[in-house]
Amino acid sequence: MPHVNAAGPHGVPRDSIHSFTAMPAVPVAIGLGANIGDRLGRLEDACRALDSMLADQRCSAVYESEPMYLEDQPPFLNACCAGRTMMPARSLLEALQAIERGAGRSPGGRRYGPRELDLDLLLYGDHVIEEAGLQVPHPRMTERAFVLWPLAEIAGDRLHPESGETIVRMAAALPRDGLRLHAPALCAPRAAE
Ligand code: AMP
Repeated sequence: MPHVNAAGPHGVPRDSIHSFTAMPAVPVAIGLGANIGDRLGRLEDACRALDSMLADQRCSAVYESEPMYLEDQPPFLNACCAGRTMMPARSLLEALQAIERGAGRSPGGRRYGPRELDLDLLLYGDHVIEEAGLQVPHPRMTERAFVLWPLAEIAGDRLHPESGETIVRMAAALPRDGLRLHAPALCAPRAAE
């Protein structure tokens, strides 16, 4: 008599396929930045790469901002993307780092220094993660207008899991005048089906 949990495609037990697909996807937010070379092209490429990993991706407009922390470097272009994923947070971070490397970023660059592409995992559902090499919510997002203002465009009602404050209210606490609109949203909003 066949086992009720006979293997499905790729040998994965049918029960685990069922529980995997029944699991809700986690809403995530990612910050993008670049200040070397073809900055906009790199953000566009990253957005396409993210679109293949995230369901229902939404993207903010692209803003130019002066560098924070280390001021002696070219201005950045910044944007944010949001979507939903089934990937665990650590796997998502590793995927972001692979996209960074694909954009020509080599590991070990100067902290806060110039970069071809920077992808930060800002929010992973309402999880608070404190692990070696992975902190979520991103610990510096709350002080960065170049993160919070673009994020407010696409996820303004979301609550920061530690402060309990909405993103839009957190953005409003930071000056917006250092942000110059550079390009429209990286990905156009999808038409309702
Ligand atoms: P950065 O210079 O911002 O690209 O920093 C990259 C380093 O920050 C890597 O070693 C990551 O493991 C670490 N890191 C910790 N939390 C995060 C996060 N939420 N998103 C991106 N990088 C993170």
